[in-house]
Amino acid sequence: MKVVFLDRDGVINVEKNYLYKIEDFEFVDGVIPALKSLKSEGFSFVVITNQAGIGRGYYTEEQYHTLTRYYLDILQREGIEVLKVYFCPHHPLKGVGKYLMDCSCRKPNPGMLLEAQVAFNINMSESIMFGDKISDILAAKAANVGRSILLRSGHPLCEDDLVVADAVYDSLIDYTTKHGY
Ligand SMILES: [Mg+2]
Ligand SMILES: [Zn+2]
Repeated sequence: MKVVFLDRDGVINVEKNYLYKIEDFEFVDGVIPALKSLKSEGFSFVVITNQAGIGRGYYTEEQYHTLTRYYLDILQREGIEVLKVYFCPHHPLKGVGKYLMDCSCRKPNPGMLLEAQVAFNINMSESIMFGDKISDILAAKAANVGRSILLRSGHPLCEDDLVVADAVYDSLIDYTTKHGY
């Protein structure tokens, strides 16, 4: 199958530093129609998110999972099924206890993408990664994802970032609109 790999913060929801409260969760404009369009193009969805806020002790895994269930429920009611949400709770320097780890899952490492590839038999060359940071793009490239697209809907980008990505769009809905989906 071909999938759209989605970073979470700055792609699905508005980037807020170390988001974990439901009341702070806000979809980026147009995300739901954009995902519906991508679904109609035959893509399945996998979310790939660094959540070092867990490792840093800013919120717990339980709080993280509560927020995950919240937005997955909303997407599901819109007919958008996410195959799986992969998250990395680690931090190589600031992690507390078991979370202090130089892991292979934290983007820009491709660990989560490679795990998904095996689990769902994903055709990586037909798949697309959407992210708002260069680390999303580097992880996708390392996992041989066919296209990696940087979005301006999250973290501010610098000129150097723009060259690494295959393309840059304002948001997910900007991408699908311009592709005529
Ligand atoms: Mg992000
Ligand atoms: Zn990790």
